[in-house]
Amino acid sequence: MQKYKHLFFDLDHTLWDFETNSLHTLLQLFDKYRLSSSFISFDDFYERYQKHNQMLWIHYREGKMTKAQLNFDRFHTPFNQVGISDETIAQNFARDYIAISPTKTALMPHAIEVLEQLKQSYTLHVITNGFKEVQYLKLKNSKLRPYFSKIFISETIGASKPKTAFFEYAVKSANARKKESLVVGDNLETDIDGAINFGLDYIYFNPNKIEHKRQLMNEISDLKEITTCLK
Ligand SMILES: [Mg+2]
Repeated sequence: MQKYKHLFFDLDHTLWDFETNSLHTLLQLFDKYRLSSSFISFDDFYERYQKHNQMLWIHYREGKMTKAQLNFDRFHTPFNQVGISDETIAQNFARDYIAISPTKTALMPHAIEVLEQLKQSYTLHVITNGFKEVQYLKLKNSKLRPYFSKIFISETIGASKPKTAFFEYAVKSANARKKESLVVGDNLETDIDGAINFGLDYIYFNPNKIEHKRQLMNEISDLKEITTCLK
């Protein structure tokens, strides 16, 4: 008898190659908005954006800001830092980013072949903290959607990972039992701590082999290693 029946996958940077897709979108928009006349380089813009965006996502997860505020401010602040204070530019840029990034389709290495194999024996679900309209488009455009039974998005549920309410809702709605469920995700705070706090088994996917001091149940750097953790 197999130990697990339901596998819950994070989407961004676990299956959908967020870094590559986001980078390509930002490069395209950097060009469109002629930002090279304001920033020293694309890297200068990208570093400022990333730093600020990460901080805003923490605020968003804690319910301290809306997604519209997040999407505007993550561009407006770096723009403002280099003297682009016109809010319309940040608004248009933010709108374009939301429209273009989900059309990008780069996936993490071996994502499709691993899902293809897993779907034979497991029921697969997505658990993600992203924006509803964006995450559905990503799944559709990158051809991931058919592999999954249910898609759980924080915005729809009204609670974000790592909140127990999120995981509880997902497991219940999937008609899964906790013992038969496993979480696969790349984020220690949202995916892994969320799984631990609700009492679910998990696999920490660490493709960049980021160092940490945690004692973890399962850790992999290639999606192909998932099968070795399922026994
Ligand atoms: Mg992720």
